[in-house]
Amino acid sequence: VKARPTPILSRPPLSNLAAPCGFPQDPPVVHRAGWVVADPWHIYKEGYVYVEKGVIKRIGTGRIPVDVTVIDHGPGAITPSLVNAHTHLELGALCGKLPFDSGFQNWVSELLHLRASLTNEEITAGILRGKTELRETGCAVVGDVSTLGASWEILSNSGLCGVWFQEFLGNFVPEALSCREPHGAIRGAFAGHAPHTSSPILLIALKEITREKGLPFSIHVSESEAEIEFINTAKGTWADFLSGRGIDFSEWGLPATSPVSHLDRLGILDDKTLVVHLLYAQRKDFDLLAKRGVTACICPRSNENLHGKLPDLLGMMAAGLRICLGTDSLASVSSLSLWEEMKLVATRYPTVSPAEIWAMATVTGAHALGFSESFGTLEPGRVPAMLYMPVITSSPSAVLEMIVLGEMDNDE
Ligand SMILES: [Zn+2]
Repeated sequence: VKARPTPILSRPPLSNLAAPCGFPQDPPVVHRAGWVVADPWHIYKEGYVYVEKGVIKRIGTGRIPVDVTVIDHGPGAITPSLVNAHTHLELGALCGKLPFDSGFQNWVSELLHLRASLTNEEITAGILRGKTELRETGCAVVGDVSTLGASWEILSNSGLCGVWFQEFLGNFVPEALSCREPHGAIRGAFAGHAPHTSSPILLIALKEITREKGLPFSIHVSESEAEIEFINTAKGTWADFLSGRGIDFSEWGLPATSPVSHLDRLGILDDKTLVVHLLYAQRKDFDLLAKRGVTACICPRSNENLHGKLPDLLGMMAAGLRICLGTDSLASVSSLSLWEEMKLVATRYPTVSPAEIWAMATVTGAHALGFSESFGTLEPGRVPAMLYMPVITSSPSAVLEMIVLGEMDNDE
C-alpha cells in the first residue's frame, strides 16, 4: 500500500520570509480529522486546527470553539508537511541511468561523465520532475544542493520553502563569494562537497560566510571507504585520483583520525552545520558531532543502493545526535519520497520508534534548515502546511506507526 498524502494547503505558501508564510487574505477555517499529529509527541484524537490569516491560531480536540467554516477531512490524520533536508534536484535527469552495483567509484565516474553530456533542457526537465515529486509527496521544505547552479530559478519559484546550497569543491576559493539573496521562500547558502574533495581553505571560507549570515552549511561526510582511507592516511585510491587531476593536497593538514575530526580541527562543526551521510563514521565521531550541536542528515536508501550498507543510526541516537532525513538525488534513489525513506528506517531499524522517525522527517529537518519557527510541527503561529493521511485506527500509538510504515487506507 502506497502512502499517498493529500495536501491540505492546496496552494503554495506566500513567498515571504520576513513574515510567516500563509494566506492572510483567506477567511478563517477549521480543519478537523480523526487525528491531528501536532508533533511527534502530541497527537490529538478528534482533533482540529484553526487557521486564520494564513497562520495556525489554535490546535486542540473536541468541540470547536469558534463559529467558522469547518472542513472535515475524514477519520485519518492531519499532519505537518515533510522536510527533505538533502537532495540534488539538478541530478534528476540521471534517474535510472546509473548502475548501482559496480561500486561507488564507478557510480561517481559515470555520474560525472553522464552529467557532462546532458543538455540544459534535460537538466531542467530533471529538476522539474524532482520539484513536482517533492510537492506531490508532501514535502514543504527542502535542502537542495546545487553544483551547476541550475536549480535556483525553478526552486525559488516552486512554492517550496527551504535552502538552496550552492556547492563547491577543489582547492580554490572563488572570488567575490557571496550567498544568493533569498527569493520566494528559498534562502541561498553554501555547501562544501566533502572533506576529501575540498581544501580546508575553501571549507573555512564557505563556513565563515554562512556563519556571518546565520545560514546553514551543508557537507557530505564519511560517505565512502575511499574518503576514510584518504583522510586517515593521505594516501590510497583517492590520493592518486587527486594527484592524477593535478590537485595538490599537501597543505590540507592530513592525515587526520577521521573526516569528522578533520572538520572539527577546521572549526566547521557547529549548530548550523548539517553533515550528510556519516555512513562510515564511528561512535567517537557521533559524540563529537553531538557535542558541537551539529545535525546529521541520513539518506539510507541512497547508502543502501550505492554502498550496500546502512548508517549506524542507533549509535548516532545513543550519542544524542540530532538526526534528520534526506533522500539524496534521483541519481541514487528511485524517488524523492520521504515516505519511502521513513519506511526503510522503520523496517530496517525496528527499535527506533515511529515518533523518532517522524521527528527526523519533520521537526529536526526544519531545525537544520533554519525553518523551525514556521514548519515541522502544527502549533499556534506556524504555517498551516498540512497533509491529510488516510490512516484508519482507534489507537493513538498506532497513528504514527501506520504513517511511517505507509499503511494507509487509500486503495480507493
Ligand atoms: Zn548528496
